[in-house]
Formats: sequence, C-alpha cells, structure tokens
Amino acid sequence: MRSASITLNSAALTHNLTQVINAIPEKTKVLAMVKADAYGHGVKYCLPSLQKADGLGVACFTEAKQIRDLGWQKVLVLIEGVFSQQEWAESIEAECQSIIHHQNQVQWALQQVPASNSPCRTIWLKLNTGMNRLGFEPEELVSVAQTLVDAGYNLILTSHFANADRPEHPSNTNQIKMFTESLQDLREKVDPNIKASLCNSAGIINFPECHFDWVRPGIMLYGSTPLDGISAQSLQLKPVMSFSASLMAIHNIAAGAHVGYGSRFVANRPIVKGIVSIGYGDGYPRVVDGSAWVSVQLAAHENETDIDRSTENDIGSTTVRRYKCPVIGRVAMDMIAIDLTEVPNPTVGCQVTLWGDPDEAAPSVDDIANSAHTLGYELLCRVTQRPIRITI
Ligand SMILES: *Cc1c(COP(=O)(O)O)cnc(C)c1O
Repeated sequence: MRSASITLNSAALTHNLTQVINAIPEKTKVLAMVKADAYGHGVKYCLPSLQKADGLGVACFTEAKQIRDLGWQKVLVLIEGVFSQQEWAESIEAECQSIIHHQNQVQWALQQVPASNSPCRTIWLKLNTGMNRLGFEPEELVSVAQTLVDAGYNLILTSHFANADRPEHPSNTNQIKMFTESLQDLREKVDPNIKASLCNSAGIINFPECHFDWVRPGIMLYGSTPLDGISAQSLQLKPVMSFSASLMAIHNIAAGAHVGYGSRFVANRPIVKGIVSIGYGDGYPRVVDGSAWVSVQLAAHENETDIDRSTENDIGSTTVRRYKCPVIGRVAMDMIAIDLTEVPNPTVGCQVTLWGDPDEAAPSVDDIANSAHTLGYELLCRVTQRPIRITI
C-alpha cells in the first residue's frame, strides 16, 4: 500500500493546551480555535484532547454543526458570525454564539432574540482596532452595543491583532490602547458587565496584560510557532502533526543526470537518489526551495559506525537512526526525490518524515514553511484527505 500518513499526537495537543492554561490568569477562559478542521488536523481527532477548553471557535456554521454532532456541549463561537437571517436562526437552534461585526448582523440579532436562558444571548462584538478587516469603528461602538444590550444581549468585546507575532511593531500599542479605551467606554456608558477578548496565540505570549476574559489560541495548540523567528520548540510547544511516507525506490544517478519535472535538479556528482511516496496531492508544498529536507529513519545495523548526519534514539531494544536528506528536484503530485548519498544502506520501505517533532530529528512544519516561504498555518491547513490519519 502507498504509505502517506498523518500521525496526530493527542498528548502533544493536551500539553499545548495546558501550556496556554498555565500562561493565563485563572479567571481567563480558553476559546480553542478549531476552524478549518482544526487547522487541517481533523477536528474529530482533536476534540478528545480539548476537553479542558472552555469553548471552541470556528469560522462558519457548517464547521460548528459538525462539532455539535460530535457531541461538544460547551461554548461554540462562529468567529465570522452568521451570513443570513436563516443562519442566525439555525445558529440559535445549535446553541452557537456569534461574532457580530457588521450592521446587517445586528439586524438579524434584533429580528430574533434567543430565549433568556440560551447561550446565544451572548454576543461577541467585534471592534476594528486597526487591522481593518472586520469590525465596528470606535465611534459607532457605543450605539451598536446599546442597541444589543437593550434587546437583552450580553456582550464580549473582541478584536484581533494584525502584528502580534512581532511585539515591537507599533500597531500593537495602538490596537491595545484603542481596545482598552473602547472597553472602558462601553462599561461606563452601556453595561459594566461587558467582557473582553483580544489575544490569539501570539498575543497570549507577547501581551500577557491583554488576556482579559477569554483568550483565543489557535496555532500554538497544534505546536507550530505563532511568532516570527522563534521556534515552537523553544516555546515549549509540541507538534501535534507528524507527516510521513516511505521510501519507494532507490537509484544511483550519474553526474550530469537530472531529476524530475523541469530538470530542475542536476547531479554535480554521482548520487544515490530516493523517491518518497508523498507530493503536493498530499499537501507537501510544491514551492519548497533547496533548503527543504526530510528525515529518513532506518533500523541501525551493529556494524555501522558512520552516524555523522544522524541522531540515535533508543526505542526499546532496537536502535533507530535518522538521517537528514535534502529534497531534490521539483515536488510532484505524488512523489518527491531526495538525496540519499549520505545514508548507509537505505532500504525501500523505510519511513521518511516530512515534518514532525524536532526532538526526533524531524524538520518542524515551520522549517518546511520557511523553505516554502509561507507559514506553518498554511501547510497544516493544506494537508489533503489522501494521507491516512492515525492518532496516538
Ligand atoms: C484564527 C483566529 C484566532 C487564532 O489565531 P492563532 O494565530 O492561530 O492563534 C484567534 N482569533 C480569531 C478571530 C481568529 O480568526
């Protein structure tokens, strides 16, 4: 069988959630972001490890419905809100809370006010503090809030950082100031009980003074870094996803021979080339530059001494050797080529890790994201349904 698999480490997910819980005040609640099928991990596999979260955040009602069907009974928030009056009705039925970021959503909320004991009486009111994506302006906030409070709603003021990954960026100070002032204004003029939520993962780490009533961690739960230039490993986050396949062919290539589409790679010396059963059809990025590498895992032979490019890990009685091998040539839909020259006695069928745990000598998803000039966020979300999912 072609092997391409996603191994999901539940203990890592639990660990990362605990890291969040330990980083925030006791009164602060956690809205774990599980949009885009839990950042590509598969929300159904993640829910058991997220039971300590106070709520879950999703992008749309379809995602929320799936989560309710999986049995989640606590807070569930549509972070883009609803898209029609009918969806507002459906979201009340499914007991979802909504962000309200626009005037048409206010009208839908006024049109149908949920029962006084419904969790949907809480609305997450979005303020634009400078990201200029969604939300009300500070000038309109008091009147919108007053209208909703008069209709019987409880409010959580919310906003989103544009540059939380870079703490020194001046927009952070401006956004925090505008958020704090607006919150104070609302509490004075509209309702002293209005709550607040500002931080995503990067904000949780960089702006501990802004944790307020709810934090909204996403990427850090999955063990990829939310920060620019700081590794997940150094933040004590553990990767949840390990992406692997196996070596399906080994060939000797003469100097001057080229490999793959576009003949992008030309051997400047004789090399040993391996083909791995993974490609962009599985979610491995086609656009990686020459810095991308994989970890090839072999059972060690007693007589081997050359461990230059490997690390040794004792797993019970068998010793495993892992070798760092560059990706060569273009990534295809179903296959990639790697340089095996430095690997003693590679074998067809051995495991190759595309990204996973740096503690096990694999590249992190953030390493490969760097090679692909993107973020771990995108690579995780873009893993396709083809690799089989295994949970451990
Ligand atoms: C996705 C999202 C988050 C989580 O962001 P991370 O950077 O993944 O932590 C938080 N808040 C909102 C509104 C979001 O859309």
